[in-house]
Amino acid sequence: MTYRELYLNPQNIFLGRTTPYEEADFALFGVPFDGTSSYLPGARFGPSVIREASGNLESFSLRSLKDAEDAKVCDLGDIAVVQGDVHQTVDRVEKVVIELNQDHKKIIMLGGEHTMTLGVIRGLGRNVGIIDFDAHMDLRSEYLDQQLTHATFMRKILDEGSEILQVGIRSICREEYEFASQKNWNYVTSLEIQKEGIKKAADKIKEFQSERERTYLTIDMDVLDPAYAPNVGNPEPGGLTSSQLIDLLEVCDKVVGFDVVEVTHGGRITAIAAAKIILELLCLIKV
Ligand code: MN
Ligand code: MN
Repeated sequence: MTYRELYLNPQNIFLGRTTPYEEADFALFGVPFDGTSSYLPGARFGPSVIREASGNLESFSLRSLKDAEDAKVCDLGDIAVVQGDVHQTVDRVEKVVIELNQDHKKIIMLGGEHTMTLGVIRGLGRNVGIIDFDAHMDLRSEYLDQQLTHATFMRKILDEGSEILQVGIRSICREEYEFASQKNWNYVTSLEIQKEGIKKAADKIKEFQSERERTYLTIDMDVLDPAYAPNVGNPEPGGLTSSQLIDLLEVCDKVVGFDVVEVTHGGRITAIAAAKIILELLCLIKV
């Protein structure tokens, strides 16, 4: 008689299990970097707290009647980041994503600060439409004298030729508002969603993806109201509920990958919400 099976896996891995890389449809990795955070730090702990939360939720979805455990996910671990060097860390994310993309894996990135999404998009190449769920536009040309931060990286993504739809916006600076007005920028505010429901946002998502071959979802957890996601780098009142966000994710199609970013430590509510969102997406995304 042996009780060896009673030992838990010594590593903290997503959902407590991992599919061998060759057989996996999804490649999951963490990027524990928060070097440019300007208010509440701690997103470097995001990958580990999301993984911990994932193992303590039911993996079966009452929405899709599917089980996230059936998704073939390989948890690759965390990328070795260069704390204090956002450029080098973004480069590393890009290199990893190029390789995963060549192997036809769908990407799941656990942030880390939102800037890391730039590395993913560079790795995926230009012909991917980006659906960005965020309270903020992250479109400043520079922030606190820095060119590349969580508040500017989306401008870089735009300048490098990608097309973007933003959902849940409610916190922008004058520069961003004027930029968005001039460019006929494609976005839906959380104010509209609170007043009119999710239909307009859902219609925008459908229209956006109908014109594109591949979409990538980036979920800054501050898109949720701080009541649902208090542990984020820049909380902003007036956000979406967890259910509104997942209702919108149900509409998303042609998804080649997604990230969940800006989860900090200090409380588990946000990590649990992040893990729930990933479980639902694993049931929703077609492989
Ligand atoms: Mn944000
Ligand atoms: Mn953001």
